[in-house]
Amino acid sequence: MADTHNFVLASGGVDSLLTLYIAAQTLHPVTPVFIEYGQKWLWERESASMHVEFLKSRHKDVHTIVNDLVTIKIGSLPQKNHYVYGRNLAFATYAAAHALSTVRPPARIIIWFGFNRDEAAVFEDNTEQFLQDATRVLRHYTLPHLFSIHVVSPLLYLGKFDEGVLLRYFDIPLQLVESSAPCYESQERCGKCPSCRHWKRVLAGYRWAEVGDLLKREDLEFYVRILLRLVCDALGGFEDVFHPAPTALREVCEGGSHAKP
Ligand SMILES: [Zn+2]
Repeated sequence: MADTHNFVLASGGVDSLLTLYIAAQTLHPVTPVFIEYGQKWLWERESASMHVEFLKSRHKDVHTIVNDLVTIKIGSLPQKNHYVYGRNLAFATYAAAHALSTVRPPARIIIWFGFNRDEAAVFEDNTEQFLQDATRVLRHYTLPHLFSIHVVSPLLYLGKFDEGVLLRYFDIPLQLVESSAPCYESQERCGKCPSCRHWKRVLAGYRWAEVGDLLKREDLEFYVRILLRLVCDALGGFEDVFHPAPTALREVCEGGSHAKP
């Protein structure tokens, strides 16, 4: 089988942190890619770098090579009412172009986004349809005889609470998670901006997943297996990326797509 390479769009946010962590549990090299498109928030790239350094320090969970963060500057994308038109299509295209120029063919290239259920409900380019469309176009028009390109998002069926649960379950430090969701308005948390509202839900999940008594532990294990099942389903057809890494994800994925969690 052709080699597989993972390229993960690293935005510095919570979704991106969890996506990177999951990609690093596969057996195939991970290259985190940060796209500079004229965003005003300087913390994003710094935060993405911290995520990569954290992963590199987590030898017990990382089953593959994690490369240094790659930064691609694409100039300024037009924005209106906080919406950046064509952003994710541009990101997928640049990530694919970078992959094609660095990976030796024949190869399977997986481009990972950190879209979740909440965003899919609001933005057209954070949906399952977008992932399918981007996959079809990039695969068809970029050297299909040499490369097989797939665009995926492991968090597609998860909400922010669920992400908090998994982050705690994977033992990712709360401080790192919190610094990945800074307040947009001030140094202190305003509690009202979109980032603070998302943070509340992530924190609620993280706190819920603190291990308590035995009964709670059983509930937690059950819930986590459902979430991991949803991650595997979102990666549809890519279960083999985890094989044979000794991870909870591998165990759940091997159960087949309709197995009970
Ligand atoms: Zn805020």
